[in-house]
Amino acid sequence: MTDKMNFQAEVSKLLDIVVNSLYSDKQIFLRELISNASDACDKLRYLALTNQELGTKAGKLQITVLPDDKEKTLVIQDNGIGMNKEDLINHLGTIAKSGTADFLKNAKENGSVVDLIGQFGVGFYSAFMVANKVEVLTKKAGEEKAYLWTSNGVDGYEIVEAEKQQNGTEVKLFLKENEQNYVDTIYLRHIIRTYSDHIAYPIVLALGEAGEETINTASALWAKHKSEVTEEQYKEFYHHISKNFDDPWLTLHFKAEGNMEYSGLVYVPSTQPYDLFQPDKKKGLKLYVNKVFISDKVDELVPNYLRFVVGVVDSADLPLNLSREMLQQSPLIAKIKQGTVSRLLKDLKKRSENYEDYKVFWDSFGTAFKEGLYEDFTNRDEIATLSRFYSTFDKTKLTSFDEYISRIKGESKAIYYITGDDLNVLANNPQLEAFAAKGIEVLLLTDPIDEFWTQVFKTYQGHALKHISQADEDLSFEREGVKAEAGSLERLLKKMEELFKEDVSKVVATEKLTKSPASLTVEDGQMSIHLERLMKGHQQQIAYASSRVLEINPYNPLIIKLSEMIFDPKNTSQVEEISRLLLDQAKIAEGEPVKDPSFFADKLSEYLLKAI
Ligand code: ADP
Ligand code: MG
Repeated sequence: MTDKMNFQAEVSKLLDIVVNSLYSDKQIFLRELISNASDACDKLRYLALTNQELGTKAGKLQITVLPDDKEKTLVIQDNGIGMNKEDLINHLGTIAKSGTADFLKNAKENGSVVDLIGQFGVGFYSAFMVANKVEVLTKKAGEEKAYLWTSNGVDGYEIVEAEKQQNGTEVKLFLKENEQNYVDTIYLRHIIRTYSDHIAYPIVLALGEAGEETINTASALWAKHKSEVTEEQYKEFYHHISKNFDDPWLTLHFKAEGNMEYSGLVYVPSTQPYDLFQPDKKKGLKLYVNKVFISDKVDELVPNYLRFVVGVVDSADLPLNLSREMLQQSPLIAKIKQGTVSRLLKDLKKRSENYEDYKVFWDSFGTAFKEGLYEDFTNRDEIATLSRFYSTFDKTKLTSFDEYISRIKGESKAIYYITGDDLNVLANNPQLEAFAAKGIEVLLLTDPIDEFWTQVFKTYQGHALKHISQADEDLSFEREGVKAEAGSLERLLKKMEELFKEDVSKVVATEKLTKSPASLTVEDGQMSIHLERLMKGHQQQIAYASSRVLEINPYNPLIIKLSEMIFDPKNTSQVEEISRLLLDQAKIAEGEPVKDPSFFADKLSEYLLKAI
């Protein structure tokens, strides 16, 4: 019986992109298929731990590559776990990842097939870059029936029952006319050496009459000594394990000895994965026990703020039959995690000495990394030392807490910061004017996460971390020039407070502004305007909004003029209009929307016209 099925819409789209791509490194299809074969062997080896019969039947796990020069076909064969019908439908007809549709659209527009294949783990479909028909003959270990899956990569696929003795999978590619160099054994040997040398199972290349040849060394890379591993091998292993195509930014290969022995090979990618901020992102390291694969993405091995780290750890001290619950409770796992994290932080420290180099890391992962400031109490100081920010000292250059401290000149020893959505808007916030006038540097924090860690991270090396609204020192200074007359100013403030009843809780005069006529802030101890905006953006319930305060600069000529005008009743409507424009202006400077944009636009042009 034949079952004809359609690909899930996402798969069709993906295939359309992959098949028609002009991507030149088509040879990576072989790496992908070998990688799948290796995963299949890992899975069987793991099952065999608890089901000896499966292991015995499978025999020695290996991957075989069989080119056929006459038929122009290429077979990649394994004796791993295999697939049943359900697996075939679920794994070779759908992509079960969230955000697929968006990503595909994006990739189509930007034409980045490499990212696609890598980030989506859609390796199998890359076979259609070189083949116009693919057959998958497969039998799942421990089951009776075998199946043949066939597709031309366009009209969906077919599944029929088939005959197969051995468990495992044979992927047969019918090569496209201009891709037939993939039957050339010299070329194949070269590709396998380049991309798959690190695979832990033997990869055997069938040479026809000349017999066969094992191409790789088939030993676990992480178990080798550093001096035995080349840069290329590290890189390829990274590609295999991360399914990314970028180069690793950091490679950390270590062996811990002492009362507990384990080794690890972990990487920090150089580019941000598309799902770094998706709540369902899978993270973690691959876990091996004495080179036997135990589990993929073991969450317990890395903290959340390092969720971009990929790699493997291996320890012979762990039991082979490790269950999920045991993983969660195991003090050994916790120890491996701790050890890995401190090694990583140490390496980051070294790399942070080179500004340009470290910026690559920070641009991709800084936002996630800062979560460690409230998540990882033990390493909090190291994480803080490694964190980078923009600041008013130079808003184009990242700086550290230590550099900030080294520049402190005045009385106050505090580290000041301000939060907002956009670096440029923030840098021009009127609230910074007094700090600028006194030569006090302020960190410009623009990530949503900054609102959160700043709530708990209150000191660094004895220096208090403070929002600019918490400045305790006297920010007033010798002012030059005229000030609005006290009595009329008082009257103007009253008038504005009356006028803006619904917008602000009070209107006050301030000494802190040097340029702007007005600025918006919140009452002491309340949620910042930026945080409030963030929470509203995330549909969060806010029990009560912070009360805004409108601060007025009595030295500003506009304010002086208004306070003079206020005594004459015939000016009333003009005073009111200008006051409203001032409030709107203060809102804009804070990154807030104005209440009535058409009023703002009309009045602005009206007054501009008067001026010219
Ligand atoms: P990924 O390897 O990232 O999961 P692929 O597109 O390469 O994505 O493969 C999709 C799925 O198909 C695999 O996760 C696996 O379940 C299944 N699969 C592919 N090749 C094999 C194989 N040789 N043996 C068993 N299962 C396989
Ligand atoms: Mg794969």
